[in-house]
Amino acid sequence: MTPTMKEFVYVAQPMRVLFGAGALNKLASEIELLGARKALVLSTPEQAADAERVAAQLGARAAGVYAKAVMHVPIETAREARALAQRLGADCAVAIGGGSTTGLGKAIALDSGLPILAIPTTYAGSEMTPIYGLTQGGEKRTGRDVRVLPRTVIYDPELTLSLPVGLSITSGMNAIAHAAEGLYAKDGNPIMDVMAEEGIRAMAAALPRLKADPGDLDARANALYGAWLCGVVLGSVGMALHHKLCHTLGGSFNLPHAEVHTVVLPHAIAYNAPAIPAALARLSRALGADRPAAALYDLARSNGAPYELRTLGMAERDLDRAAELAVANPYWNPRAIERNAIRALLQDAWEGKRPS
Ligand code: NAD
Repeated sequence: MTPTMKEFVYVAQPMRVLFGAGALNKLASEIELLGARKALVLSTPEQAADAERVAAQLGARAAGVYAKAVMHVPIETAREARALAQRLGADCAVAIGGGSTTGLGKAIALDSGLPILAIPTTYAGSEMTPIYGLTQGGEKRTGRDVRVLPRTVIYDPELTLSLPVGLSITSGMNAIAHAAEGLYAKDGNPIMDVMAEEGIRAMAAALPRLKADPGDLDARANALYGAWLCGVVLGSVGMALHHKLCHTLGGSFNLPHAEVHTVVLPHAIAYNAPAIPAALARLSRALGADRPAAALYDLARSNGAPYELRTLGMAERDLDRAAELAVANPYWNPRAIERNAIRALLQDAWEGKRPS
């Protein structure tokens, strides 16, 4: 008989999670639980008002606010925030925002060991991963280090009500991409498969509800729950072709993060489809459709998300170079990486074709 259970390694990431509408009110006691006294509150400039509100809520437990987080964590920003934390006597940092703000918190933790408490307001999932990124002189370097993992995560769906619908859908597709690739990861395991399937199911069901009514708190809660599970998968197992393509397109052609994931995902799944029967079965169950690649395309497009690389600012003449870059130092992938097939995939994604 063919064995139905393979050997695997499972690594749990140490983390305390509070989930629920209004959970932000527990922030002060969570800081205390970390053994910390004063927090530097981090955010992007766009979310400075949120950060100020959190600081006001913390009162004497707030050391100050640093609202200069930007995409891809420039090393200068990380250094400035770290120096400010030191000057203000902060013994922890609170990161309120999406992956950019969480990323700044991680960069601070990497060198200083300062404990980070993350309050995610998008579905990117960075708060669940020991992966960090830092940009120096235009080059982004990424790494894994358990020191950057937030000690505590507060998921409060009320904070996601302000996430614009467009970004909610693309950020949700970004989350689904983590879990979808986790389903066929080389180092995958049955625990991650359960989380991935459930994360995709919760997110895919929530997105049309969010589109119909962005103020639907229950839909917001379900999306955030899905994002959490998808983030765990990203932090636990290796990613493949889809993430390689998105890193190439995002890094070398400066395309927006969540949107690129949204456009590329159906095509990456279609490319891998012949090699991933078990993952396709789980994807089909999670999406309630028997052709997952087309279902992902429909999910994005019917909810108003971009579905063509050309509308994201990619020039057609750059597709050849993108294909070369994507096949150079490829990540492990269940189907062999063939240059011409990858070039065809990129053409389809550029034109916005529905995967057949
Ligand atoms: P982001 O953090 O860059 O946020 C995008 C914009 O939306 C910002 O202006 C932000 O302030 C705003 N915003 C966020 N939440 C909001 C809310 N609730 N209401 C109103 N505005 C809100 O976007 P992102 O997609 O969350 O993160 C992308 C970055 O995170 C990329 O740099 C990516 O590489 C990184 N990332 C890292 C990991 C990891 O594991 N290290 C995982 C996922 C993403």
